[in-house]
Amino acid sequence: MKIGILKEIEKNEKRVSISPKIAKQLIEKGFEVVVEDDAGSSSKYKNSDYEEVGVQVEKRGAVYKECDILVKINPFDEDGLKLIDDHHILICQLFHKSNPEIVKQIAEKGATVFSMDALPRISRAQDMDVLSSQSNLAGYKAVIKGAYEMTKIFPLMMTAAGTITPSRVLIYGVGVAGLQAIATAKRLGAVVEATDIRLETKEQAESLGAKFITVDPNGEASENGYAKAASEDYARRQKEAVNNSLFKADLVITTAMVPGRKSPILITEEQVKQMKNGAVIIDLAAAQGGNCELSKMNKTVIKNGVKIIGTTISPESVSTNASDLYGKNMFNFINYLTENNEFKWNLEDQITDETLIVKDGVIRKT
Ligand code: NAD
Repeated sequence: MKIGILKEIEKNEKRVSISPKIAKQLIEKGFEVVVEDDAGSSSKYKNSDYEEVGVQVEKRGAVYKECDILVKINPFDEDGLKLIDDHHILICQLFHKSNPEIVKQIAEKGATVFSMDALPRISRAQDMDVLSSQSNLAGYKAVIKGAYEMTKIFPLMMTAAGTITPSRVLIYGVGVAGLQAIATAKRLGAVVEATDIRLETKEQAESLGAKFITVDPNGEASENGYAKAASEDYARRQKEAVNNSLFKADLVITTAMVPGRKSPILITEEQVKQMKNGAVIIDLAAAQGGNCELSKMNKTVIKNGVKIIGTTISPESVSTNASDLYGKNMFNFINYLTENNEFKWNLEDQITDETLIVKDGVIRKT
């Protein structure tokens, strides 16, 4: 089977779904691999890097025409959808619940699509989990961005000119991004505090050197390891428990999300008013509505001297690593679904079942 790596065309997107190193591994498995002209250039991968490992470089139309499996990061765009037909197997992050129109168009073409974001968060799927591999980088980069935006440094510094006290960093949400944010802020020398609705994250946060702020010692509900929406009572008690740290923080990173829902508002305008002048909030949940009431996606809002930056923090900003990890997830996924380079179509299997959104024009998941 021939795999086609398509160029991402979204504004600000700098990643490519399969890097040359991973393409080489696919070729070693017996696949033929074609890459769209210039697909890797924003991730610092040149056409010649692909050619060196045996990948053929083609114009867009030829990739669609020649390949059986088409891989992307973002959902297929209007122009791309026009080029697909019933022999294509597409793999991307489709976000099918938010993109019913794209799902419908793929089905109308009689094609098949797997969605990487629909992967079950189970142990054996960990090495294919694009949400984790990209969130991890986002957690790292959020701290670096915060450090850049702050007017203070992170570590304690004793100098002849005086002592600099360490910055205080507060992290809401100790999932994949939050844990990496804790580790990065600690490495830079900050005093780090963190909170999460799932009590099981206390030990993980503490093992990385953060002080965990417990809201409810019995733990608020979690479901299959994921957060459930917090009750009003929990939200009120969370404010009581965290406000003291919030008002002292120099950098706040919010990552709190609840699958399938708008992200919870954890910091209101009223709370922002009581924060330190010069504090920075990096809201990684901005695309899902934001954890701060004042966040605006891809914008910096300044309120009472507090800088609120709404972003997904794009793994795009570390596009080389993000592409490498995304590609490795993709390799593991393709490898898992195929045998002797043919799809197994084991619909009884949870990973196959949950990611297979459309098969041969039939919509399986809405
Ligand atoms: P996420 O992005 O959905 O949410 C981030 C964090 O926000 C979570 O820890 C969540 O508990 C927290 N949160 C939600 N509402 C909150 C609130 N009101 N107040 C405070 N915190 C709130 O989470 P994620 O990073 O995708 O990971 C969630 C869990 O899934 C973790 O336990 C992770 O280890 C696990 N996971 C498993 C796999 C796998 O096994 N394949 C892969 C990835 C993640």
